[in-house]
Amino acid sequence: FYQMLATHHIHLNAQQQQAVETIDGPVMILAGAGTGKTTTLISRIAYMIEEKGIAPHEILLVTFTKKAASDMKERLMHLPNGALYSQVTVGTYHAICLRILREQQRTFTLLASDAAKHFRFKMILKQLGLTESHTPEGIMGIISNWKNRMLRPIDIKKEVEAKQDATEQKELRALYDVYNLYEREKESRNELDFDDFLLEVYYLLLYDEEARVHYQHRFRYVLCDEFQDVSLVQYELTKLLAAPYDHLCIVGDDNQTIYTWRAASSDFMLQFTTLYPNAKQVKLETNYRSTADIVGFSNDLIAHNKHQIKKTLNVPTAYRHAIYVEVCATPEEEAQLVLQEIQQLRASGMRYQQICVLTRSTTYVRTLFEHFVLHHVPVIDYAKQGENFYAHDYIKRFIAAMRVSLQPNDADALLLIGKLMYMPQERWAATITHEQLRISDTSLLERVMLQMATEKRERYQQEAIKKQLHMLLRYRTMKPQDVLLDLRTGTINCEKQLDLDAKKEKTLYREELREVFDEFDTSLRRFQSIDAFLQFHAMLEQKKQEMEQMRQDPTVDAVHLMTIHSAKGLEYDAVFAIGWFEGMLPHFKALAGEQGLLADDLLTHQQALEEERRLAYVCATRAKERLYISSVRRYHNQQRKFSRFLLEGARLTAPTP
Ligand code: ATP
Ligand code: MG
Repeated sequence: FYQMLATHHIHLNAQQQQAVETIDGPVMILAGAGTGKTTTLISRIAYMIEEKGIAPHEILLVTFTKKAASDMKERLMHLPNGALYSQVTVGTYHAICLRILREQQRTFTLLASDAAKHFRFKMILKQLGLTESHTPEGIMGIISNWKNRMLRPIDIKKEVEAKQDATEQKELRALYDVYNLYEREKESRNELDFDDFLLEVYYLLLYDEEARVHYQHRFRYVLCDEFQDVSLVQYELTKLLAAPYDHLCIVGDDNQTIYTWRAASSDFMLQFTTLYPNAKQVKLETNYRSTADIVGFSNDLIAHNKHQIKKTLNVPTAYRHAIYVEVCATPEEEAQLVLQEIQQLRASGMRYQQICVLTRSTTYVRTLFEHFVLHHVPVIDYAKQGENFYAHDYIKRFIAAMRVSLQPNDADALLLIGKLMYMPQERWAATITHEQLRISDTSLLERVMLQMATEKRERYQQEAIKKQLHMLLRYRTMKPQDVLLDLRTGTINCEKQLDLDAKKEKTLYREELREVFDEFDTSLRRFQSIDAFLQFHAMLEQKKQEMEQMRQDPTVDAVHLMTIHSAKGLEYDAVFAIGWFEGMLPHFKALAGEQGLLADDLLTHQQALEEERRLAYVCATRAKERLYISSVRRYHNQQRKFSRFLLEGARLTAPTP
């Protein structure tokens, strides 16, 4: 068997072999990053099939992200008899549960998109009169957390009743009311959200004996990768599925728990040997992935966390200088540097697909993404931010205004800019119906202006609209960034008249506006004319479609762009860890406690910071040969300090701030 693996360049060490050959009963592999946990799992599956005669369809392999699941499938297929292994069930908890629900012919509507959920919560908050004190985002997080901890509305109700403190009780009751209403509404519409998949399947298996026996028999062998990130419901589900044989192999690294905010906890992994006293434990202690200084840096960094199990991590490869640190002036400069370096790596023979850019926040990669497009370097943006930004309502309107300035007959664009004209979208749309516009000889813009002049409205509004429309005509000769400045003033004036009732909503709204403007401004500064920008924008649109195809095909040679969260378990020859500054990594939400504000409601400040450090650890340990860490001195018009995590990897000499 091992010879067969060797022909595929897999040479397992003694401990890995031990894990591979221990098939029956519960097994736990708790080991650091890059020690071959996933490799061992894959080899173990091959061993089960080849040596033990276990049927592939009896094996269930669960992992955490979609990308990791498709990677696993890929790696299985590449084994000697890989084609036979396609019957192994590989997927995320959600995908597997969805499949079970479908197999059980449960009919339901999926309430899957964040936007749809957001809207639902907004309505509920309005209905309950809670818009002053709560935001849909905040509530969504809390409820999802509860569900992952298997707390149903009735459980929360009990908690409410048990509260001693009147204020606390009132606060929790409000949350309970929202939760309860949300669940009832979903039920009446026969909808399930993402978190429901797991709960539904869990209760199905718990209460329906036939189904339980069926799936326990079908998935006789259960293997879980990244087990440090399971939540209670996932944990319970795994136990139930693996029973009664308990042929359960769990694999993980407590230092890589990065989903605590979603109620993940490494405690489940740490309690494993208590729950299964007959569990066998295997330790892997050699990091095969990264060069010595990358492992050294990561070890030093994570050593600053108090809550962890000490593990040994040795490195067989010789020391080689493989970490590069750069502090740039702006994200713009950072993007240029990253791109230059990538071109050089490429010139020296590295393939694009062996290069990855990792970010803490989806919005931060946008500048970089645009540089990729501008310089025609192939890229797959898994965070999808490069695309989503231009789908933003405001941005769409701004771009429409620019289009109108060049082409006053662009009816679609004219329709889009209604809000810039101090007008509710519907009224604006009614003013310039397509029909009316198409039959006209004069330019649409002129006609609209004429119509405005005859409309009955307040004088100051008349003036403002006229001014704005005339501005549109002047835009064509202006620099894009000045156009934006003008649109900005226009929009803010317009928003001032918008009567937002909720205080919290208003602040968020302002915040969002400011961010969108700042972001757009950095992009526009690259272009000398509106025309040049619009051409670039068209190129982006085209890229979007290309990327959709590229995402389906993992063999495409393109640089990968993604969040640290979604890079779990993956590895690349070169990793660019961008935006390592205070406020980004560690994220400002984790720092909020330090500034005297409330930290994330669900975590204490200390916990939140340790989670950020684990994120930095996951990020750094994705790199095999080269790790580029960069920071910027200025972002969103604020001075930034490079991340404390840079200094904690003690082997580095600190960059000058
Ligand atoms: P992570 O914690 O990031 O999920 P992991 O423990 O799952 O990491 P793998 O992804 O399985 O680690 O392996 C890391 C790298 O080490 C891979 O490139 C793999 O091919 C290689 N590797 C694993 N075991 C061995 C071995 N015995 N000899 C040589 N290389 C190995
Ligand atoms: Mg792994």
